[in-house]
Amino acid sequence: MIIVLKQNAPKHDVEKLMSMLSAYDIKVNAITGAEKEILGLVGDTTKIDIEAIQAQHAVDEVKRVQEPYKNANRKMHPENTVIDVEGVQVGGKKLTVIAGPCSVENEAQMIETATAVKASGAAMLRGGAFKPRTSPYAFQGLHGEGIRLLLEAKKATGLPIVTEIMSAADLDLFADVDVIQVGARNMQNFELLKELGKTDKPILLKRGLANTIEELLMSAEYILAGGNTKVILCERGIRTFETMTRNTLDISAIPLLKKKSHLPVIVDPSHAAGISALVEPLSFAAVAAGADGLIIEVHNNPAVALCDGAQSLNPVQFDDVMKKISGLAEYMGR
Ligand code: PEP
Ligand code: MN
Repeated sequence: MIIVLKQNAPKHDVEKLMSMLSAYDIKVNAITGAEKEILGLVGDTTKIDIEAIQAQHAVDEVKRVQEPYKNANRKMHPENTVIDVEGVQVGGKKLTVIAGPCSVENEAQMIETATAVKASGAAMLRGGAFKPRTSPYAFQGLHGEGIRLLLEAKKATGLPIVTEIMSAADLDLFADVDVIQVGARNMQNFELLKELGKTDKPILLKRGLANTIEELLMSAEYILAGGNTKVILCERGIRTFETMTRNTLDISAIPLLKKKSHLPVIVDPSHAAGISALVEPLSFAAVAAGADGLIIEVHNNPAVALCDGAQSLNPVQFDDVMKKISGLAEYMGR
């Protein structure tokens, strides 16, 4: 439920309204926008007498939010949420590009790749230390050692780091990680989402392989409901009948998510396509559709990558994409 306050409502009228609301088992989020001051009510609002609220002096309008996602809903928070990651603003005016290898493999690979993507203008470094592989016999990641190498690369370049968590039991290892990624396969691991909701780390939440836009927003809601307001949504392609690409990038999810939610939306063209040659055109499409950023797989030598080499750009290709994207970003006002 949303209560829009009258402009310049006297303090004592607002206090009276707040004391009325305190009788209910709900959370009241006050949001001061450029034009309006609104109160977002989250929880079981079914017992609230709308007419009694409407009759209060401070109240301009009362609206029910029909969608099941409340905290993630743009109605509750009309302005874009901008998430600060060590000085990098995600969801702000500037496009945020996150780049790096699928998996952290060794120190030379990380330092070389991180240095290259930074020089091309990436704002953050990605790299998986815990890898969700389809086969149990495939490279599973370096775990704690992988996070240590990411931190080394951060020290060398200054780039904040993004890496995936697969189990809440590993959370202690993520203490110095700047953005915790929840991969597509864990989008509906609700116990993990609840644990991440208790942290204050920015969370990069990827859309599940076969999940709807509403399900993605409901997963974000789990994190937000726990008190963590820093959620970045990621469209990374969904399963369709198409077999020529690894997944199908759902371009319409980008403007839809931006319309339905105030959270930043970034796009992963690498996992969507599965083919390095498609990364550039899909990146353009994502930016043109209003994405706040991109997460692109880049490897210093894709031919020998332990994971996802076929979809990884080499540093020269990444630099080329970044140069071309800057013109489009400028056109888009970013
Ligand atoms: C990844 O980013 O390395 C990854 C495994 O992606 P996704 O969860 O989107 O498949
Ligand atoms: Mn990958």
